[in-house]
Amino acid sequence: MTHTSQLPTAPSTRAEELTRAAADFGHVVSTRPWGVLTPRTVRDVQDVIAFAGPRGRPVSARGGGYSLYGQGQADGGFVLDMGALNRVDCTPGERTLVAEAGALWRDVVRAALAEHLTPPVLTDHLGSSVGGVLSTGGIGTSSHHHGLVSDAVASLDVVTGTGELVTCSPDLHPGLFDAVLAGLGQCALIVRATLRLTPAPERVRRYRLYHQSPESFFADQHRLVRDRRFSHLDGQVRPALHHTWHYMIEAVVPHRTGHLPLDDDLLIGDLGHVRDTVEIEDVSYGAHLHRLDRAERILRVTGEWQRPHPWLTLLLPARTAPAFVAEVLADSAQNDLRTSGVVQLHPLLGGRLHTPLLRRPSGELLHVFSLMRTAPPANPSAVRRSVAANRAVYERARELGGVVHPVSALPMTCEDWRRHFGNTWDVLARAKDRHDPYRILTRGPGLWP
Ligand SMILES: Cc1cc2nc3c(=O)[nH]c(=O)nc-3n(C[C@H](O)[C@H](O)[C@H](O)COP(=O)(O)OP(=O)(O)OC[C@H]3O[C@@H](n4cnc5c(N)ncnc54)[C@H](O)[C@@H]3O)c2cc1C
Repeated sequence: MTHTSQLPTAPSTRAEELTRAAADFGHVVSTRPWGVLTPRTVRDVQDVIAFAGPRGRPVSARGGGYSLYGQGQADGGFVLDMGALNRVDCTPGERTLVAEAGALWRDVVRAALAEHLTPPVLTDHLGSSVGGVLSTGGIGTSSHHHGLVSDAVASLDVVTGTGELVTCSPDLHPGLFDAVLAGLGQCALIVRATLRLTPAPERVRRYRLYHQSPESFFADQHRLVRDRRFSHLDGQVRPALHHTWHYMIEAVVPHRTGHLPLDDDLLIGDLGHVRDTVEIEDVSYGAHLHRLDRAERILRVTGEWQRPHPWLTLLLPARTAPAFVAEVLADSAQNDLRTSGVVQLHPLLGGRLHTPLLRRPSGELLHVFSLMRTAPPANPSAVRRSVAANRAVYERARELGGVVHPVSALPMTCEDWRRHFGNTWDVLARAKDRHDPYRILTRGPGLWP
C-alpha cells in the first residue's frame, strides 16, 4: 500500500480542462471535477488514489472519453487523464501484447498488425482506450467466436482504491481480476493489460445481405451465428418508405492463404436475402477494422459527432428479440431514429461470453440491440425525451429477460444495478468493500448510495 499525503503534481483547474473532463461522447450529463491530473507513471496513479481515499475525493479514469452518460466523470473530485500512459509492446513469439491503459485500441491494432496478429475481438470504434473498454467488457462482431474483448486478457496490473498496485490474472488474485473486467471501474483502475492475440488475416471478404422481412433476417442471423461460417457478424435496421424498416446482415470471412478461393455460392447461396441487392467487397483486414473511420471524419465535419448521443444498447434473448424489436421500432417515441440514428442488431452466443460481470440474458442465442441516435444541438428537452424513451425501452426489455449493456445513456438507481448484477452483486459488493473501502472510484455509473 502507498502512504502519501501529496499529489504527484498539482491538478489542473484550468477552465478548459475541467470542461473537457465534464463532457463525454454522450453529451447528456455533465459534472465538473475539482481537478484533472495526467499521470505519467503508474506511481502517479497510486499517489493520486492514496491521496484522495482518506479525503473521500472521487477519482475516475478517463481514456478515450467515449462514455455515453457521465460514467467517467468525477463530480468534485479528480479525473485522471490516462492519455500519457499509452505504451504498447507486442511480443509476437508469445502472441501477446502489453498495453498501458490509456493506449487506444487503434494503437493496439497498429502494433499487432505489424506482427500479422490481432486481438480476437474488437469494438466497432477504435478510438476508445484499453482501460475504458476492458472495464465495460467490450462486445464485437467476432464475439460469437471469441467472446468479449475482456475474455482475451491474460493478466492486469491495477491500482485499487487504497493506492495498492496489484497484478491479477485467473491464477493470481482471481477475485480482483474478475471484479475489474467489465467491473465498471468500481474496485480498481487498470494501468496495464496483457492481451492474447491471434493470427490476423491479410484480407477479408465482406457481404452486405439485404432482407425483405424481419423473419428472414432473424432466421439467417440464427443460422449464421450457430454454424459460424463467418468470422464477423453484424446487422443493421435501416429506415425505409412508409414507416417500414429494411434489415441488413453484414458478414465477413477471411481469405486464407493457401486455401481455395472463397466460394460465394457456398457462403451465401442458402440464405434468405434479396439476391440482386447483395454487395460483396474485398478489403484488407486493417481497412475492415477501421471501417468506422470515414463515417467519423464525415460526422466530425457535419458536427454530428459533437452532438448529444443518448444511445441505448441491450442484450436480448433470441426468443423475445423479434417481437420486441418490432415493438420498439413501431413506437413513435423512437421516430428520431429514422432521421438521425443507426440501429444495430447482431447475434451472439451466450456460452462464448466468459467475463463474469458482463451480465447477459439466459439462453444460448442472444442479440445485441443498439439504438444509436444523435439529438439536435442545443435542445435539452429533446435529449430528456430520448433518455426517457431509453428508460421505457429498458424496462420493457427487462420484463422480457433483456439486460442493459452499461455503455448506455440510461439513468439507473442502486436498486436497478443490484438487479442488473443479479447473483454477482454480492461478490461485487464484497470486492468493493475490500478494494475500495473509501468508495472513491468511478462514481459516475452510480452503483452505490
Ligand atoms: C462510436 C462508438 C462505438 C462503440 N462501439 C462499441 C462496441 O462495438 N462494443 C462495445 O461493447 N462498446 C462500444 N462502445 C462503447 C465504448 O466501448 C465504451 O463506452 C467504452 O467504455 C469507452 O471507453 P473510453 O476509454 O473511450 O471511454 P471513457 O469515458 O474514457 O471510459 C469509459 C469508462 O471506463 C472507465 N475507465 C476508463 N479507463 C479506465 C481504467 N484505466 N481503469 C478503470 N476504468 C477505466 C471510465 O472511468 C468510464 O467509467 C462504443 C462507443 C462509441 C462512442
